[in-house]
Amino acid sequence: MPVVTVDVSELPPAERREILKEVLVQARSCQRCPELAATRKTVVFGAGNADADLMFIGEAPGASEDAQGVPFVGRAGKLLETLLNEIDIKRTDVFIANTLKCHPPGNRDPLPVELENCQEYLLRQVELIQPTVICTLGNFSTKLLRGDPTGITKLHGQPEVLVLGRRAVRLYPIYHPAAALYTPRMLETLREDFARLPELLALGAPEQPEAMPEPLEVEPAQQAALAAKASQDPDELDQLGLF
Ligand code: URA
Repeated sequence: MPVVTVDVSELPPAERREILKEVLVQARSCQRCPELAATRKTVVFGAGNADADLMFIGEAPGASEDAQGVPFVGRAGKLLETLLNEIDIKRTDVFIANTLKCHPPGNRDPLPVELENCQEYLLRQVELIQPTVICTLGNFSTKLLRGDPTGITKLHGQPEVLVLGRRAVRLYPIYHPAAALYTPRMLETLREDFARLPELLALGAPEQPEAMPEPLEVEPAQQAALAAKASQDPDELDQLGLF
């Protein structure tokens, strides 16, 4: 496959969104986890604003999400939406994804090898969406992104700057809404943690690490589209960092 060097952080949102669509197409035919590929109905890639400042990362799609191909459509999703609305944020303003893009049969926990297989998609999403704040929901996404076994009970509500791939973000671990559904005290804590989101978002993006251009694989059709766009304006060519 042809490889061109693109610093995606320099691309305008519309271009990043196009590449995100390419990643979605790749994910839809993913066979990295044979059991999940054989049992899933859909690949639940993620949904929302592809240029969102705020991104949520849950665990894995449940049965309803598997059926509809959209994350957080069940009761936990309704609670997430309610909590967002309480701080004047619409679900369509944020991007919602999971550590796994496929539903584990019987709602079992994601396996370590599955988390590893799927991590590349998540990192691509972060790189292309460029969120300022990432809320990890519960233990799985918090431990995965931090690369550390410290649990959500200890970490919730405490923002930290984390470099994911080539992107620095404000990580904000919070309880998983599914857990809060059945525990009123946890719901109260989740609501309090949500209330701090606006001030965290207002801080803007953390300082970014120095850009290190790395080869990014780009499909031929997409490469042609980017090249055609760049050729319209020579200055744009530099801006896009195509070559
Ligand atoms: N729980 C999750 O972690 N993700 C979903 O998409 C739905 C429920």
